[in-house]
Amino acid sequence: MAAAALVTGAAQGIGRAIAARLVADGYDVVVADLDGDRAATTALELGARSVQLDVSDVASVRACAADVGPISLLVNNAGIVRGGTLGALSVQDYRQVMDVNVLGILLMTQAFTESLVGTSGSVINLSSISAQVNVPGTGIYSASKAAVTSLTQGFALELGPRGVRVNAVAPGRIATELLTSRPTDPAREARTVGLIPVRRVGQPEDIADVVSFLASPAARYVAGQVLVVDGGLAIGTMPFFMAAQAGGA
Ligand code: NAD
Repeated sequence: MAAAALVTGAAQGIGRAIAARLVADGYDVVVADLDGDRAATTALELGARSVQLDVSDVASVRACAADVGPISLLVNNAGIVRGGTLGALSVQDYRQVMDVNVLGILLMTQAFTESLVGTSGSVINLSSISAQVNVPGTGIYSASKAAVTSLTQGFALELGPRGVRVNAVAPGRIATELLTSRPTDPAREARTVGLIPVRRVGQPEDIADVVSFLASPAARYVAGQVLVVDGGLAIGTMPFFMAAQAGGA
């Protein structure tokens, strides 16, 4: 019987690409998303199962765990952004972002721990380069992703002795609905790409391939790590500094 993998926020974007890659890897994949209809459509297209899930809601997470049954791979991908300055951050925006991006990972990992231990499984969380390079105008998002790093390390320490590896992937700029739903200026986009060392915006599949590696036996000695997948975007400030000096940023 195929090992089961559950991917949260998999109806679209990076989560969908991860689900597709895991189906190709031979997993029995569960597409879990707040948008139950879109999750069902995506699952049908990929040859996966689907479940409606709010990762920030205890009852919804418990119902999902009961419904889905044992899994050996949990990918905590669901995440949201609420733009704005920290100075003007509302308590509602704070709670929404922290509830989905941080509490969601906590609840899901708690709910599936025994099943993961029983299958010598693995957990992979979606962080962001904004955990290490704060992005102005993204409210509490950067802080939430820094908390994902800490949660990844904490769970890796707790679950490693029980045979479960916990790691994270930190994407850079990836072309998904999260990015394309915001208005973009082509000239600004071109300048942005010029500052990425590999000279392109990432695709969801660039992240999915790394998740596949971290889940695989090839990564059997990797635990508690955050693997940055950003085309080199976050490795230094000097290209940005030089572009600003040249008037290009
Ligand atoms: P996206 O907005 O395209 O998709 C997110 C999915 O999560 C949606 O299908 C949405 O319905 C679902 N979702 C939202 N709240 C949920 C909840 N409470 N419970 C269950 N599902 C919920 O996002 P994306 O760009 O594919 O990003 C996926 C992950 O990667 C996120 O954690 C994001 O923070 C992270 N990330 C993305 C980028 C990027 O450039 N796109 C960069 C760094 C990190």
